[in-house]
Amino acid sequence: MEKERVSKEITPQGQDFSQWYLDVVLKAEMADYGPVKGCMIIRPYGYAVWEHMQADMDRRIKETGHVNAYFPLFIPKSYLEKEKEHVAGFSPECAWVTIGGGEELEEPMAIRPTSEAMICSMYAKWVHSWRDLPVLINQWANIVRWEKVTRPFLRTTEFLWQEGHTLHATAQEAHEETLKMLLVYRDFCEEMLAMPVVWGQKSESEKFAGAHKTYAIEALMSDGKALQAGTSHDLGQHFSTAYEIEYLDKNQERARPWSTSWGTSTRLIGGLIMTHGDDAGLLLPPKVAPYQVVIVPIPPRKGDWSEAVLPRSREVMASLRRAGVRVHLDDRDNQQPGFKYADWEMRGVPLRLELGPKDIEKDQCVLVRRDTREKSFVPLAQTPARVRELLDAIQQNLLERARQYLAEHTTQARSWDDFKAVMADRRGFLLAGWCGDAACEASIKEETKATIRVQPLDREPVPGSCIRCGRPSPAEVYFAQAY
Ligand SMILES: [Zn+2]
Repeated sequence: MEKERVSKEITPQGQDFSQWYLDVVLKAEMADYGPVKGCMIIRPYGYAVWEHMQADMDRRIKETGHVNAYFPLFIPKSYLEKEKEHVAGFSPECAWVTIGGGEELEEPMAIRPTSEAMICSMYAKWVHSWRDLPVLINQWANIVRWEKVTRPFLRTTEFLWQEGHTLHATAQEAHEETLKMLLVYRDFCEEMLAMPVVWGQKSESEKFAGAHKTYAIEALMSDGKALQAGTSHDLGQHFSTAYEIEYLDKNQERARPWSTSWGTSTRLIGGLIMTHGDDAGLLLPPKVAPYQVVIVPIPPRKGDWSEAVLPRSREVMASLRRAGVRVHLDDRDNQQPGFKYADWEMRGVPLRLELGPKDIEKDQCVLVRRDTREKSFVPLAQTPARVRELLDAIQQNLLERARQYLAEHTTQARSWDDFKAVMADRRGFLLAGWCGDAACEASIKEETKATIRVQPLDREPVPGSCIRCGRPSPAEVYFAQAY
C-alpha cells in the first residue's frame, strides 16, 4: 500500500519522460528550484553525489599533471571582447554587472560564462620564457549563462564545473592535451558513473566559440536522446594571440603558445539520473551514491524495537563503516518498513539491508539490490564482505546495462527515409555519412531535430555518401537528438 503511494508520485517514464525526470530530481531531493528562473538549489543529497564525483575527477585531473587555482567571477567587458568569435558566441547569454556600491561602474563586468578571457589575460602576465611552459591549471567554479529554457542539472543559468586552461609550446602538444583530457572524461564517466560514451570531434557549427577544434564525449539517455557530457577544446593560437601571450623560446625568439580548455559540470548529474533511473525513481551507481547501503530495521510485532533490533542494526552499521561502506540507518519510528523500502528505492540507494527479529534469531540479514531487486540472506558475520561484493557487482551491472543500451541504440542509417523514421521513433545514435556542408547539417536538424554529435574518433572512418544529399562523405558521423 505505502509502496504504491510513494511510486505513484513519480510519473512513469513511458508516459512523460521529462516529467519523470523532474519528479525524480525533486522527490529524491537532488535539487529544488530557486527564486531566480533557471537557478537551482543543489540539496544535500544531490550535493553529496557531486562531492563524490568532484573528488574523483579532481584526483584524475591532478594525476595528469594539473594544479588547481581560482580566478575572479567578474570579467571586465573589454577583456571578453578581445577574442571576436568568443565574445560573439557568449554575449547573448552573459549576465552583466553595471552597478557596484551604489554607483554605475565605468566598465560593465560579465559574470563569467567561462574563464578563457580572465585566465588568458593572467597568463599574458605570467608567461615570459619557454621555461614557463607548459601551464597546466584547473579551476573549480560556478558559471552563469542566461539560458532561455532551463531544466535542473541539464541546463541551468548557474552551474558548477571545472575548467582546465593550459598553454603549450607546440601545436602537437596542445592537441595531445586536448585528447588526453577527453579520455580522462570518458574514463571517469564509465568508471564512476557507469555511463558509457561515444567520443570525437564537433562539427564547425557545434564547436566552442573561438576554438580551433572542439572534441566531446556524448552519452545516450534512456529516452534515446544524447547528452553532451564533457568537452575539450584545442584553441590553437586564437586566444594567445588575442590576449597577447608571448614568450622567448629556446632560441631567444618571440613565440606564441598554443592553448586548450576543457570542462565538465553538474550536468553530469542529469546524465546519471537519465542513464540509470527507472519508474521507481533514481538508481545511483555505488561509487557516487551518498548512501551505498540503507539499513531498514524491522520492529517486532510485539515489544520494543530498541531491545534487540535497533542495537543489532547499529552494530551492523558500525561493521559496514569499518569496511569503508557509506551506510545509513533509517531509524525513523514514524514510518513502516514498506514505506522506507519504497522511499530509498526512489532515492536510488544501491543496496537495502533489512534486519528483523527473525533474522536476528538466525544471525542473518536480508540484502536487496536496487538494480535487479534480487534478495539474498547473508550471515551477519559475512555481511561486510558480501556488501562490498554486491556493490561492485551493481556498479558493473549498471555499466553493462548502459553499454548494451548504447549498442542497441546505435544503428546505421540506410537511407534518408530510414533516418527520419528512426529519429521519429526510437531515436538513439545514427551513424550516417555527411558531406561536410553546413547546409545539409542544418536541413537535417530542421527536419528531424537531430544534430551531429561528433565525428567519431572511437572507430575507423568509413567513407560513403551524405545521408541528405548523396554527395561523397569522408567519414560517418554520429547523429542524435540531444539535450
Ligand atoms: Zn550533404
